[in-house]
Amino acid sequence: MVSRVIPVEPFDLVIFGGTGDLARRKILPALYLRHRDGQIPDDGRIIGAARSEMDAAGYRETVAEAVRQFVVPAKCEPEQLARFLERIDYVAIDATGTRGWGDLAERMRPDLAQAFYFSVGPALFGDLAERLHQHKIAGPRARIVVEKPFGHDLASARALNATLACHFDEHQIYRIDHYLGKETVQNLMAVRFGNMLFEPLWKNQYIDHVQITVAETVGVEGRGAYYDRSGAMRDMVQNHLMQLLCLIAMEPPSKFEPDAVRDEKLKVIRALQPVEADEIVRGQYQAGDGTASYRDDAENPDSRTESFIALKVHVANWRWNGTPFYLRTGKRMRARMSEIVVRFKEPPHSIFEEDTGQSANELAIRLQPNEGMDLTVTIKEPGPGGMRLVNVPLDMTFAEALGEEATDVPDAYERLIMDVIRGNQTLFMRGDEVEAAWAWTDQVVAAWEARGEKPVPYEAGSTGPEEALILMHRDARRWRELNT
Ligand code: NAP
Repeated sequence: MVSRVIPVEPFDLVIFGGTGDLARRKILPALYLRHRDGQIPDDGRIIGAARSEMDAAGYRETVAEAVRQFVVPAKCEPEQLARFLERIDYVAIDATGTRGWGDLAERMRPDLAQAFYFSVGPALFGDLAERLHQHKIAGPRARIVVEKPFGHDLASARALNATLACHFDEHQIYRIDHYLGKETVQNLMAVRFGNMLFEPLWKNQYIDHVQITVAETVGVEGRGAYYDRSGAMRDMVQNHLMQLLCLIAMEPPSKFEPDAVRDEKLKVIRALQPVEADEIVRGQYQAGDGTASYRDDAENPDSRTESFIALKVHVANWRWNGTPFYLRTGKRMRARMSEIVVRFKEPPHSIFEEDTGQSANELAIRLQPNEGMDLTVTIKEPGPGGMRLVNVPLDMTFAEALGEEATDVPDAYERLIMDVIRGNQTLFMRGDEVEAAWAWTDQVVAAWEARGEKPVPYEAGSTGPEEALILMHRDARRWRELNT
């Protein structure tokens, strides 16, 4: 298979917070890899901006170190890196003061596409937007990129939207949820809407339930104090899991275009029902073998914040009535795994003997590790011995069908940053989507706070609290095995 890399147009990309963790781990390596693939034209320039005093040469050294550290060695080629560094510039700037802004204004090329990546804490978004405007740096073609957390609740998300809206139109604002940039997530849309096979079955009549799992093996060490003000519901469910749920549950958009897709996602969020008290399980990890407890990591012995959550969610519309979505996410779990499982119903009548081994079809969409999809189907076990049935995966991971290079998929950040330059907002969250997601989240959080509930403890390295298993068992269902 020949890969087609279409270069983007020339641009100036300014990374505010260009010396920070996100820039070094994700943004700069992603840009290097796009450069290496020939997608960035000669006129594509990247300007780091932060308070640290250094010149362009000093920043190039920071960039080179980040690329060497976070890009796989096979792709870290000295000549490519040297050419990439020629694109890099740096401005020492203070988001809250006057330093550096005149300097940045002079370096921008107003006729080109402009992107401003706000890779700083949300408290600085307003200051940056204000100064970009005041110094006439952002032209009409400017786009800004903001990261999660986009607010802490509905009120703060609205305030952030209003702050950005003072100086930028909605079509200029790119709210990143990197889950949407994953190859498999887009493939989910291709599978749903590019085939006749799935969509007619994609409803309560044929789908028993959907499970979405995002499990991490790490704890909150290092960012415990921040996390303790947030918790799994706000940190993961409100954004990543909700976005995945939307892509599974949404109606077919009329076109694969930004607002057509986002309109349909918004309808799903608005159709989410409040969660009943017995349909939610919150947990906190305990100390493990050489690992601290959640409360110790958070340095809060009385913390009521959840490091794990499982929910049974109902989408109140014709398509999904009676088909629940089970969501779970947690830290310090047995495996690092993100996947969506669509479990179909059993055939209405079995013509085979009861113990032949027939079981329901499952479509599993793996986001990590090993991005890919498989569909389990029931077939006859080969050989003599009568009609014995066996479930086998129809592997839709792309290697065999499309060749080895098809498995070499770009990281989500590579795709999303190129989409910003191209001006394609399909994979970014719109302001009203974010607000609707917070409105639902706030309601769920307020309900458990009113009940005064505390999270239950769970063993480090486990699948989460026992109660989360029971949440499924009592519906005669179970979570898929948590394996890597
Ligand atoms: P970080 O490591 O603390 O970096 C912050 C950056 O902002 C640094 O480059 C810092 O450089 C710069 N900065 C701070 N105050 C500034 C000011 N007044 N003017 C100009 N620059 C300033 O943070 P991060 O982890 O990269 O996170 C950045 C944003 O992304 C945050 O909103 C975070 O929540 C979000 N995020 C991060 C990750 C991640 O993996 N790290 C993942 C998802 C979302 P100087 O000190 O030199 O100014």
